[in-house]
Amino acid sequence: MSLTVVGSIAFDAVETQTGRRDRLLGGSAVHFALASSFFDETRVVGPVGDDFGEDEYAALHSRGVITDDIEHVPGGKTFFWAGRYERDVNVRHTLQTDLNVFEHFQPSLSEASAAADVVFLANIQPDLQREVREQCTAARFVGMDSMNLWIDIAHESLVRTIRLVDGVILNDGELKQLTDEPNLVRAARAVLDLGPRVVVAKQGEYGSALFTRDGYFALPAYPTPDVVDPTGAGDTFAGGFMGYLAAHPDEEVDEALLRRAMAYGTVLASFNVEAFGPERMLSLSREEIAARVAELHRSTSFDDAPVALR
Ligand code: AMP
Repeated sequence: MSLTVVGSIAFDAVETQTGRRDRLLGGSAVHFALASSFFDETRVVGPVGDDFGEDEYAALHSRGVITDDIEHVPGGKTFFWAGRYERDVNVRHTLQTDLNVFEHFQPSLSEASAAADVVFLANIQPDLQREVREQCTAARFVGMDSMNLWIDIAHESLVRTIRLVDGVILNDGELKQLTDEPNLVRAARAVLDLGPRVVVAKQGEYGSALFTRDGYFALPAYPTPDVVDPTGAGDTFAGGFMGYLAAHPDEEVDEALLRRAMAYGTVLASFNVEAFGPERMLSLSREEIAARVAELHRSTSFDDAPVALR
């Protein structure tokens, strides 16, 4: 089947404890697509400027990502984001955000992109997410992400978008901020009450939690000791998660499928943080993914041997 993602396509400047890079291929849609490309044909929708060249397209094509719906804006500059991480990599400071070509972006999907079976509205202005949602009339499952910026300045629009999707994948802090609930369980339930049937709370190095109307599941992060650059971990998680759903077009999106999707999201994200930008994803193999999923399975299962309690 097919998967479409709309979101930022960017150049990122990143500073972490291990070093800095001034110009990395990034953006929420790019990180997502590099991960989801392991599961299904992925089309990226979003604008770029003149500075987005052959090398960037080649990186996406090397993973089979379809770039026909990337809109080149003549004379424009690609979205730019700069961030710095503290020693505690869960703490990130945004230093600069230049919307550039995103300022006047009006998504208009090709027939092939609009026909996608699974759609992900990665982090962009919620009005734009809705415009894409409305064009994807055939989608079986639509997921979305967002960020504190839109919760702050476009709350109402964001809620309108949430009402139109099947799954919301947000950081735990963002879920709490969005719903004004200090408790994560209550926050997730408040989002479920808006309409989506799935809420995933991303918790950085602590893993992720899955909330549905009748279930709860959580996984720790895969314990990689090599965290070089966490940028895009959330989008990569979403790419693994949504990609897994897309790879099972004939299965009902039930609790069991969602749990397995959580494992793939977790594993893909753990690879992404092991190098700057998309580097690790571009060298990643299917065998490495399969081995890490098996390891995660072993390390998160246990036999409940009843004991006489007193
Ligand atoms: P994550 O680490 O998963 O939250 O995603 C980081 C990616 O999001 C980076 O590659 C940035 O280019 C992109 N990004 C940062 N801020 C924004 C924004 N305001 N709108 C869209 N994308 C953004």
